[in-house]
Amino acid sequence: MFTCEAADTSSEPQSNAAKSMKILAAEDNPISQSVLRSMLTKWGYEVIATGDGNEAWHILQSKDAPRIAILDWMMPGRDGVELCRNLRASGIEPYTYILLVTARTDSKDLVEAMDAGADDYLKKPFSALELRARLRAGQRIIELQEQLLIAREALRMRATHDGLTGLLNRSAIMETLRAELERSAREPKALSILMLDLDRFKQINDTYGHLAGDAILREASARMKATVRSYDSVGRYGGEEFLLVLPGCNSVGALALSERIRQCIAATRVPIGEQEITVTCSIGCASQSAEIPCDADSLLRLADRALYDAKNNGRNRVEPAGAVLLNL
Ligand code: GH3
Ligand code: MG
Ligand code: MG
Ligand code: MG
Repeated sequence: MFTCEAADTSSEPQSNAAKSMKILAAEDNPISQSVLRSMLTKWGYEVIATGDGNEAWHILQSKDAPRIAILDWMMPGRDGVELCRNLRASGIEPYTYILLVTARTDSKDLVEAMDAGADDYLKKPFSALELRARLRAGQRIIELQEQLLIAREALRMRATHDGLTGLLNRSAIMETLRAELERSAREPKALSILMLDLDRFKQINDTYGHLAGDAILREASARMKATVRSYDSVGRYGGEEFLLVLPGCNSVGALALSERIRQCIAATRVPIGEQEITVTCSIGCASQSAEIPCDADSLLRLADRALYDAKNNGRNRVEPAGAVLLNL
């Protein structure tokens, strides 16, 4: 597999990144595989070796699979080109960089390999130095792709989350509500929503300043998140107004949870300079049951009206929507 110039004199691993990088070496010739394995290990890679194409496919699909694969074209089970096709068709993320190796020299073969989804191609026999350089190029691609995934995730977070509180933003919580309503109609299951508004918040801003108001918004959001179950969703619906979506929660459960949230927020003291400020909230609950499904707009209207009642009845309180009583 390797030419005479294969002797790679350097015994140093190429970099710290290579040190921790897993690599799949799929080569059915035992001698070539053994040379390849010792070479890669010396360069600092964590090597997973196999001589069978089906096993290689299994490894590539596994959790925490190697991000770089050296695939021999001719192998029992599944050949290297077939592996390329299977991997690209599966759309598995994150991306696997494929270096195909073969004794074939026809340029038609090279085109076939690249078309199948190989990133690079080495003709046997090849030099260790060339292999090492090509792996470095592959590693650069993998590192760039990792940065891209991180950037994409950051963008997704920014598009769906509120910058001040870290909660879902209005469009994301509305999307969650619609998706959960569809799911609860299919199953079918109860679902409740809470509309929560901080009381006399303008007065807090006017008295302590806007930054103090922001700190209270953040603290109240954290309390809401900490009080709900992991599969509930909390979103910032407007300035100091929040929407909570509670799948599988009936009107009785929604009232109990609302009361816990109300008490928790009222008991929270937020330190602002020398002082500690408290804030209260009013909550309107609306529920749909398995028997009486509701669309998003009607449910929001019900919760909004209940919130209005809570404000009119003195604030720092929870009110159920009128129609909720039918669902008990
Ligand atoms: P009510 O009990 O009737 O809800 O009275 P309220 O003062 O809370 O209601 P109002 O709608 O009059 O005032 C809401 C205030 O919330 C006004 C607005 O400046 C403030 N607010 C909205 N968004 C933010 C924000 O991001 N930060 C801060 N600090 N204040 C905000
Ligand atoms: Mg072979
Ligand atoms: Mg308010
Ligand atoms: Mg408001």
